[in-house]
Amino acid sequence: MKVFQNMKLIDGTGKSWEQAVLVVEGDKVVALGKPGEVTLPAKAEVIDLAGKTLLPGLIDAHVHLCFEPGPDPVTTLVAESEATTALTAARNAAVTLRSGVTTIRDLGGKNFIDLDIRDAIAKGKIPGPRMLAGGQFICMTGGHGWQMGYEVDSPAEARKAARVQLKQGVDVVKIMATGGVMTAGVEPGSPQLTEEEMRAAIIEAHKGGRKTATHAQGTTGIQNAIRAGIDSVEHGIFLDEKTVEMMLERDVYLSATLVAPHWIVEYGREAGIPDHAVAKSEMVMEHHFNSFELAYRSGVKIVMGTDAGTPFNIHGKNSFELKLMVDRGMSPMEAIIAATKTGSELLGVDKEVGTLEPGKKADLLVVDGDPLKDINNIANVYQVYKDGILVD
Ligand SMILES: [Zn+2]
Repeated sequence: MKVFQNMKLIDGTGKSWEQAVLVVEGDKVVALGKPGEVTLPAKAEVIDLAGKTLLPGLIDAHVHLCFEPGPDPVTTLVAESEATTALTAARNAAVTLRSGVTTIRDLGGKNFIDLDIRDAIAKGKIPGPRMLAGGQFICMTGGHGWQMGYEVDSPAEARKAARVQLKQGVDVVKIMATGGVMTAGVEPGSPQLTEEEMRAAIIEAHKGGRKTATHAQGTTGIQNAIRAGIDSVEHGIFLDEKTVEMMLERDVYLSATLVAPHWIVEYGREAGIPDHAVAKSEMVMEHHFNSFELAYRSGVKIVMGTDAGTPFNIHGKNSFELKLMVDRGMSPMEAIIAATKTGSELLGVDKEVGTLEPGKKADLLVVDGDPLKDINNIANVYQVYKDGILVD
């Protein structure tokens, strides 16, 4: 058994204690609270964390482990061998875990390599976060991400595509509702898959007990996906009052990935990022931030999604998203809840992880300082535990 003591504790539900104790047995949390309230085991390894903060391991609802986050990840991914992609993904899994992100949802790789990575992590062959994998996303012919996607052009083809994903063993089905920043010749705002095509894929995913996510940037495409039954909107660049209303009515989550355009604009053309990606990011960034604020103020459920793997959006720097979320109005506590409890609910893993409660997995992030005083402290990683085991 392990006893963590003397630290600030944030449990993921909105509660925090200044001087707390947390008891872990095997891979599970068994007790937590103020020192006098917790029964301490007779024999345990005591870990003193004075000056530190302990919180649930973070959850990133949108990553791409297969992407090397250089100037043009998609071109690199398409050109390289599968072995190289697998090695890249394995390394990215390790650095993500070490940064305190203990659960991820991968929303697009190459040839189902993400499923192999997921399984290798689960079997303990390689270090990495708990992982939900999306396999191939479903897009229209020539649509956003077609280089890696499964191209469809009718509801029947979309149904087939979803069934192929389920047969391969994906945990989530991702569909492309609109154009995007990274593909030349497609507009971020334009709708792509039709509502009927998306509905066909979503029905199959839900029948198989899987959630669905959509890359969706323009308003019409986002609304199409919501009407089709989507569970989460990724990016959500052009939200308006009506779209937010629809999200609230149907309990649709937002995974904003604010860091993705942030880094593209920050590094820019000088770093070799394709001109079309920089130009589109510059064009959409302000809308993107405004949409996030609108969704937040309106009470839409928001999770942490980063799109890690896009240009200079480096794996292991995921928690920078929380800083941007706080810059745009969230309190540090709300940002932490988004990256823990709310993320676990969207991913459907909230019985196991997302909050620190007796019976849940001991996935823990320990940082120096207090992230509630300054959210940047979330990146001052001191220790990470997954399943109660210290990640080295
Ligand atoms: Zn993405």
